[in-house]
Amino acid sequence: MTNIIYTKDLVKYFPVKSGLFGRKIGDVKAVDRVTISVRKEETLGLVGESGCGKTTLAKTLIRLYKPDAGQIFFDPEGKIPDTPLIQSHDGILEIAKIEGAKLRSLRRFMQIVYQNPTTSLNPRMLVKDIVAEPLIVQGICKGAEAEARVLEILEKVGLGREHLYRYPHEFSGGQKQRIAIARALITNPSFVILDEPTSSVDVSVRASLLELFKEMQKKMNLTYLFISHDLSIIEAISDRIAVMYLGKVVELAETKEIFNNPLHPYTQALFSAIPVPDPESKRKRILLPGEPPSPVNPPIGCRFHPRCLYAMEICKQVEPKLVEVRPKHLVACHLY
Ligand code: SF4
Repeated sequence: MTNIIYTKDLVKYFPVKSGLFGRKIGDVKAVDRVTISVRKEETLGLVGESGCGKTTLAKTLIRLYKPDAGQIFFDPEGKIPDTPLIQSHDGILEIAKIEGAKLRSLRRFMQIVYQNPTTSLNPRMLVKDIVAEPLIVQGICKGAEAEARVLEILEKVGLGREHLYRYPHEFSGGQKQRIAIARALITNPSFVILDEPTSSVDVSVRASLLELFKEMQKKMNLTYLFISHDLSIIEAISDRIAVMYLGKVVELAETKEIFNNPLHPYTQALFSAIPVPDPESKRKRILLPGEPPSPVNPPIGCRFHPRCLYAMEICKQVEPKLVEVRPKHLVACHLY
């Protein structure tokens, strides 16, 4: 098994400023020493409450944000071994700090589809120009070649020639998202972030978009990081699932394993909220006490300890590490 991306102790903070002179008074610790890998051609689902750092982690992985510390290894061909890397080697780049032309040349391999296509598509541009833009900006091709590639990708996502000369407002929500998908895929990327890509469309369109993502993954050998707060969607599309809480990944396992046997107390609570169709089912909803603490001032030790039903003395002092407690099942908790 090889990986397309691998991070080591990745950190992304945002400064909190106050007063007349905008003096820095702290940091929002959005992503705090996250070590994670995404396997070649898999869909890794990323879940957690809103504000836990999912989108920040995703945007830092593809260098839309510059990390404050840590390493990101990226290989468009997905040749990163499972054993952690220390330095760039064999064409595998450490991209946490690269800038300028080097970073621009990687952009074509890493793309993102946002939640709301109405805000992510320029309302004053024609579809043909919206979809061609990444090709032009990245100097891949232009003119007739770009137009041919636009048409080809539009047809792949279920649109066609008749849509080329229209503006985004002439389309339904689902069609707009297809345009956004076409724009993300036109550079033939290897790694695509799907950030809540179905949450702005209704249920029937949602199913067809999920099918489209799966189809495009097969056709184009894509690797996805799929962010969603909807666990049924995550279950339907993911090969593995990572659970985030307050800037940390607290559990990571294959989809079936994590749904059947969630080990971290936070995951257990999160998954207990999924409605069960069987009225005889004994599964009880676990209600967590309190609100998630502020990421500006997260609790010492295990960040989940003020809300955890199993918290012990050690949890208040020592931060648990993400370790493999069952085959391919990683958990950060002192219970294991
Ligand atoms: Fe709960 Fe302690 Fe595990 Fe944190 S480390 S989840 S507080 S038992």
